[in-house]
Amino acid sequence: MTPELNELKVEPRLWINGVWTDGNGTVIVTNPATGVTLAEVQRGGADDLRRAIDGAQRAFASWSHTPSAARGELLKRAAALLTARRNTLAALLTREQGKPLAQALGEVDYAASFFQWFGEEARRLCGRIQPHPTPGFEYLVQPIPAGVVGLITPWNFPLAQGAKKVAAALAAGCAAVWKPAELTPLIALALAPLLAEAGLPPGVLQIVTAPGRLVGEVFTNDPRLRVLSLTGSTETGRTLAAAAARHLPRVSLELGGNAPFIVLPDADLEKAASDLVRLKCLCSGQVCVSANRVFVPASRESEFLDHLQRPWLKARVGDGLQDGVDAGPLIHHQACQQVRKLIEDALSQGAEVVCVNRTHEADGSLAAGSFCAPTVVRGVRDDMALAATETFGPVAPVLTYQSVEDAVCRANATPFGLAAYVYGGDLARARAVAEALEVGIVGVNEWRPLRAEIPFGGIKESGLGWEGGEEGLHEFVVLKTIALPRPRLDLDGRRDP
Ligand code: NAD
Repeated sequence: MTPELNELKVEPRLWINGVWTDGNGTVIVTNPATGVTLAEVQRGGADDLRRAIDGAQRAFASWSHTPSAARGELLKRAAALLTARRNTLAALLTREQGKPLAQALGEVDYAASFFQWFGEEARRLCGRIQPHPTPGFEYLVQPIPAGVVGLITPWNFPLAQGAKKVAAALAAGCAAVWKPAELTPLIALALAPLLAEAGLPPGVLQIVTAPGRLVGEVFTNDPRLRVLSLTGSTETGRTLAAAAARHLPRVSLELGGNAPFIVLPDADLEKAASDLVRLKCLCSGQVCVSANRVFVPASRESEFLDHLQRPWLKARVGDGLQDGVDAGPLIHHQACQQVRKLIEDALSQGAEVVCVNRTHEADGSLAAGSFCAPTVVRGVRDDMALAATETFGPVAPVLTYQSVEDAVCRANATPFGLAAYVYGGDLARARAVAEALEVGIVGVNEWRPLRAEIPFGGIKESGLGWEGGEEGLHEFVVLKTIALPRPRLDLDGRRDP
């Protein structure tokens, strides 16, 4: 057990109906930087999941009728509590997920911003009166909470991905059953006592650690769940969407990406290179919006690589709890093997290693950690697996292009459509390139464009629906329209002169 769990009043169990309960098995959670066991966490079975849904259904009856302003105030209190405990939460997040403490603090703040944002948006969820073509009638168009919702999140941003969904669902008046990733359940469970302290009634948010496949089966077999919101791989999204055909809940999917990072011929190469290093250090590249293909003009490739090598090799890889660490381990050893396999495959087809950052190797205490040396590879072709699949690791595959049009067409030649980055001096051209890219979000001369106030979602096989912005709230409401006669006071002709 870590000291943070005590301080945050977290028990490694299931949170159902406002109390900690046992499941029917356990899962071991380890620190990926050291291999040390952090906790043995209770794992729910099908009965636990159904019990959680039963409780959420009961809680929904009153939560959905709580005034939206009161729901919003509660969420804003939760944002304040997250901020007040950011150091402890971030330390737990680093221990469990591996990302450096500074990034973990950023994730806690990002999570708090969703509670704040949806806390504010709750009271702005309005319907409308629509004129009726028949005299004496009108339409009331009302947004109403969708019902009980099932939320499923991955391990890379285990607090923020949950916060985006939980805050939006609760603001809309839904009750939720949240299934965090089994590799990182502790930081998710930390939200339970915090929300209870903010005043959330028991049952409105249930947190059940359980195997993904089982959760998918239980959620899609239960007609009471009216929204299923998943952040995960495209493969999991496909499986969940197919199974959801049974009872047709709304399916909201934030899935994989293959982001192009396009350096235009007139870009500030030093800035582009240093931003690329920051982007690839973020969660060690295990991010759906991480740069997966770096397109540079052939005529400026060697200059760009010169600018890239310095900050790439200067970044410090290590245990995220130590000062000055820029990138942590990958989530487990299998993830490292997968990344190395992709690099070796590219090298066997003619690509070349430009530089490798081995800073973590100097620290013997990290020998058991799942570290993967950040690597820049050049000579990568579009058809190599390193460029065609989501790498999810600290690799920068560099591809060259002859014309900007060629770069854009190749950037779009993927089934994914999540994020993209464009670096250029002429903003009109950079904007035109951004407009031509088939993705949900583009950063122009910016490596981290995501915020609570903007909608984020993928197109093509990167997803369905939106998180953040006002759109994020609409994922959890349904519209109900009532056509009815307009009440009219009979003034008995008294208005007439
Ligand atoms: P994953 O798809 O393996 O798992 C995600 C979650 O789904 C986990 O909680 C897992 O237990 C659960 N799950 C697995 N199989 C399931 C099933 N059959 N039914 C229901 N739930 C199931 O993904 P991961 O490895 O945890 O995360 C990495 C992936 O997530 C990457 O592809 C990444 O791009 C994507 N991702 C997308 C976004 C986004 O906003 N678009 C954000 C973060 C991560």
